[in-house]
Amino acid sequence: LGPQRATEIRSLIRDVPGYPHEPIVFRDITPLLADGPALADVVEAFARLCEGDDGHGVDVVAGMEARGFLLGAPLAMRLGVGFVPLRKAGKLPPPVDRVSYDLEYGSAALELRSGTIRAGARVLVVDDVLATGGTAAAAVELVERCGGHVVAAAFLMELDGLGGRARLAGTAVETLLRVG
Ligand code: AMP
Repeated sequence: LGPQRATEIRSLIRDVPGYPHEPIVFRDITPLLADGPALADVVEAFARLCEGDDGHGVDVVAGMEARGFLLGAPLAMRLGVGFVPLRKAGKLPPPVDRVSYDLEYGSAALELRSGTIRAGARVLVVDDVLATGGTAAAAVELVERCGGHVVAAAFLMELDGLGGRARLAGTAVETLLRVG
Protein backbone atom coordinates (compact mmCIF):
# COMPACT_ATOMS: atom_id res chain seq x y z
CA LEU A 1 0.00 0.00 0.00
CA GLY A 2 1.33 3.46 -0.82
CA PRO A 3 1.16 6.08 1.94
CA GLN A 4 -2.01 7.73 0.64
CA ARG A 5 -3.86 4.46 0.10
CA ALA A 6 -2.71 3.25 3.52
CA THR A 7 -4.29 6.37 5.06
CA GLU A 8 -7.52 5.74 3.18
CA ILE A 9 -7.58 2.09 4.23
CA ARG A 10 -6.86 3.09 7.84
CA SER A 11 -9.88 5.43 7.74
CA LEU A 12 -12.05 2.37 6.93
CA ILE A 13 -11.05 0.70 10.22
CA ARG A 14 -13.28 1.87 13.04
CA ASP A 15 -11.75 2.35 16.50
CA VAL A 16 -14.15 1.35 19.27
CA PRO A 17 -12.76 2.34 22.71
CA GLY A 18 -13.80 0.14 25.63
CA TYR A 19 -14.99 -2.80 23.49
CA PRO A 20 -15.27 -5.59 24.53
CA HIS A 21 -14.00 -4.00 27.77
CA GLU A 22 -11.60 -1.30 28.99
CA PRO A 23 -8.78 -0.61 28.16
CA ILE A 24 -9.13 -2.30 24.76
CA VAL A 25 -9.65 -0.19 21.66
CA PHE A 26 -11.31 -2.62 19.27
CA ARG A 27 -10.27 -2.23 15.62
CA ASP A 28 -13.34 -3.04 13.58
CA ILE A 29 -12.53 -3.93 9.96
CA THR A 30 -16.19 -4.29 8.92
CA PRO A 31 -16.26 -1.00 6.94
CA LEU A 32 -13.09 -2.06 5.10
CA LEU A 33 -14.55 -5.47 4.23
CA ALA A 34 -17.67 -3.74 2.89
CA ASP A 35 -15.61 -1.55 0.52
CA GLY A 36 -14.81 -3.54 -2.63
CA PRO A 37 -11.78 -1.57 -3.90
CA ALA A 38 -10.29 -1.38 -0.39
CA LEU A 39 -10.68 -5.12 0.16
CA ALA A 40 -9.12 -5.80 -3.25
CA ASP A 41 -6.17 -3.49 -2.50
CA VAL A 42 -5.54 -5.16 0.86
CA VAL A 43 -5.60 -8.64 -0.69
CA GLU A 44 -3.32 -7.43 -3.49
CA ALA A 45 -0.87 -5.94 -0.98
CA PHE A 46 -0.74 -9.27 0.86
CA ALA A 47 -0.25 -11.11 -2.44
CA ARG A 48 2.72 -8.92 -3.36
CA LEU A 49 4.48 -10.06 -0.17
CA CYS A 50 4.39 -13.60 -1.52
CA GLU A 51 5.41 -13.04 -5.12
CA GLY A 52 8.65 -12.19 -6.91
CA ASP A 53 12.25 -13.13 -6.17
CA ASP A 54 12.28 -11.52 -2.73
CA GLY A 55 8.75 -12.66 -1.82
CA HIS A 56 7.78 -15.49 0.50
CA GLY A 57 6.89 -18.31 -1.93
CA VAL A 58 3.70 -19.74 -0.48
CA ASP A 59 2.10 -23.18 -0.94
CA VAL A 60 -0.85 -22.60 1.35
CA VAL A 61 -2.45 -19.79 3.39
CA ALA A 62 -3.57 -20.45 6.99
CA GLY A 63 -5.94 -17.97 8.64
CA MET A 64 -7.08 -17.62 12.23
CA GLU A 65 -10.77 -17.67 13.10
CA ALA A 66 -12.58 -15.50 12.34
CA ARG A 67 -11.19 -12.43 10.64
CA GLY A 68 -8.15 -14.32 9.37
CA PHE A 69 -10.64 -16.29 7.26
CA LEU A 70 -12.02 -13.13 5.69
CA LEU A 71 -8.60 -11.93 4.55
CA GLY A 72 -6.84 -15.26 4.10
CA ALA A 73 -9.36 -17.03 1.86
CA PRO A 74 -9.45 -14.32 -0.86
CA LEU A 75 -5.66 -14.11 -0.65
CA ALA A 76 -5.33 -17.87 -1.18
CA MET A 77 -7.62 -17.64 -4.19
CA ARG A 78 -5.62 -14.72 -5.60
CA LEU A 79 -2.38 -16.73 -5.17
CA GLY A 80 -3.92 -19.89 -6.61
CA VAL A 81 -3.20 -21.90 -3.45
CA GLY A 82 -5.34 -23.57 -0.81
CA PHE A 83 -6.59 -22.19 2.49
CA VAL A 84 -6.42 -23.86 5.91
CA PRO A 85 -8.70 -22.56 8.67
CA LEU A 86 -7.14 -22.44 12.13
CA ARG A 87 -10.26 -22.76 14.22
CA LYS A 88 -11.17 -21.96 17.79
CA ALA A 89 -11.41 -25.03 20.00
CA GLY A 90 -14.35 -27.38 19.58
CA LYS A 91 -15.52 -26.31 16.12
CA LEU A 92 -13.92 -29.01 13.98
CA PRO A 93 -14.77 -32.70 14.06
CA PRO A 94 -11.90 -35.05 14.94
CA PRO A 95 -9.15 -35.74 14.19
CA VAL A 96 -7.60 -32.35 15.00
CA ASP A 97 -4.23 -31.02 16.11
CA ARG A 98 -4.39 -28.37 18.82
CA VAL A 99 -2.22 -25.74 20.50
CA SER A 100 -3.42 -24.04 23.70
CA TYR A 101 -2.27 -20.57 24.70
CA ASP A 102 -2.79 -18.13 27.56
CA LEU A 103 -5.02 -15.09 27.34
CA GLU A 104 -5.11 -12.16 29.76
CA TYR A 105 -7.92 -14.01 31.54
CA GLY A 106 -7.96 -17.77 30.99
CA SER A 107 -6.78 -19.66 27.95
CA ALA A 108 -7.75 -20.47 24.38
CA ALA A 109 -6.78 -22.99 21.74
CA LEU A 110 -6.45 -23.20 17.98
CA GLU A 111 -7.15 -26.39 16.09
CA LEU A 112 -6.67 -27.60 12.57
CA ARG A 113 -7.81 -30.71 10.79
CA SER A 114 -5.01 -33.29 11.11
CA GLY A 115 -3.30 -34.03 7.84
CA THR A 116 -4.37 -30.82 6.06
CA ILE A 117 -0.85 -29.46 5.82
CA ARG A 118 1.58 -31.35 3.61
CA ALA A 119 5.01 -32.03 5.14
CA GLY A 120 7.35 -29.18 4.24
CA ALA A 121 4.58 -26.96 2.84
CA ARG A 122 5.44 -23.24 2.83
CA VAL A 123 2.68 -21.65 4.87
CA LEU A 124 1.67 -17.98 5.20
CA VAL A 125 -0.23 -17.27 8.42
CA VAL A 126 -2.76 -14.40 8.09
CA ASP A 127 -4.84 -12.42 10.58
CA ASP A 128 -6.32 -8.95 10.86
CA VAL A 129 -4.62 -7.68 14.04
CA LEU A 130 -1.27 -8.41 15.71
CA ALA A 131 -1.63 -7.36 19.35
CA THR A 132 0.30 -9.35 22.01
CA GLY A 133 1.19 -12.01 19.46
CA GLY A 134 -0.21 -14.86 21.57
CA THR A 135 -2.67 -16.01 18.92
CA ALA A 136 -0.14 -15.81 16.11
CA ALA A 137 2.55 -17.60 18.13
CA ALA A 138 0.07 -20.43 18.74
CA ALA A 139 -0.78 -20.51 15.02
CA VAL A 140 2.90 -20.75 14.08
CA GLU A 141 3.45 -23.53 16.62
CA LEU A 142 0.42 -25.45 15.37
CA VAL A 143 1.39 -25.22 11.69
CA GLU A 144 4.98 -26.25 12.43
CA ARG A 145 3.91 -29.11 14.66
CA CYS A 146 1.85 -30.36 11.71
CA GLY A 147 4.94 -30.38 9.49
CA GLY A 148 4.46 -27.03 7.72
CA HIS A 149 7.09 -24.32 7.42
CA VAL A 150 5.79 -20.84 8.29
CA VAL A 151 7.45 -18.51 5.78
CA ALA A 152 5.83 -15.40 7.31
CA ALA A 153 2.99 -14.15 9.46
CA ALA A 154 1.08 -11.31 7.77
CA PHE A 155 -1.34 -8.89 9.41
CA LEU A 156 -3.46 -6.04 8.20
CA MET A 157 -2.63 -4.09 11.37
CA GLU A 158 0.11 -4.18 13.97
CA LEU A 159 -0.74 -2.54 17.31
CA ASP A 160 2.40 -0.83 18.60
CA GLY A 161 3.64 -1.34 22.12
CA LEU A 162 2.03 -4.72 22.84
CA GLY A 163 5.09 -6.83 22.07
CA GLY A 164 3.58 -8.90 19.26
CA ARG A 165 6.57 -8.71 16.97
CA ALA A 166 8.96 -9.75 19.77
CA ARG A 167 6.68 -12.67 20.66
CA LEU A 168 7.06 -13.88 17.07
CA ALA A 169 10.87 -13.72 17.11
CA GLY A 170 12.14 -16.23 14.57
CA THR A 171 9.20 -15.70 12.21
CA ALA A 172 9.15 -13.05 9.46
CA VAL A 173 6.39 -10.57 10.36
CA GLU A 174 4.69 -8.47 7.67
CA THR A 175 2.15 -5.78 8.48
CA LEU A 176 0.33 -3.46 6.10
CA LEU A 177 -0.53 -0.79 8.72
CA ARG A 178 1.00 0.16 12.07
CA VAL A 179 -1.39 1.58 14.61
CA GLY A 180 -0.17 3.39 17.74
P1 AMP B 1 -3.12 -11.23 20.26
O1 AMP B 1 -3.15 -12.72 20.43
O2 AMP B 1 -3.08 -10.47 21.55
O3 AMP B 1 -2.03 -10.77 19.30
O4 AMP B 1 -4.51 -10.81 19.62
C1 AMP B 1 -4.74 -11.05 18.27
C2 AMP B 1 -6.07 -11.66 18.00
O5 AMP B 1 -7.10 -11.04 18.75
C3 AMP B 1 -6.44 -11.50 16.55
O6 AMP B 1 -7.13 -12.68 16.13
C4 AMP B 1 -7.34 -10.28 16.53
O7 AMP B 1 -8.40 -10.46 15.63
C5 AMP B 1 -7.84 -10.14 17.96
N1 AMP B 1 -7.57 -8.80 18.51
C6 AMP B 1 -6.70 -8.49 19.50
N2 AMP B 1 -6.75 -7.20 19.82
C7 AMP B 1 -7.68 -6.66 18.99
C8 AMP B 1 -8.18 -5.32 18.82
N3 AMP B 1 -7.74 -4.29 19.56
N4 AMP B 1 -9.13 -5.13 17.88
C9 AMP B 1 -9.58 -6.15 17.13
N5 AMP B 1 -9.14 -7.41 17.25
C10 AMP B 1 -8.20 -7.68 18.17
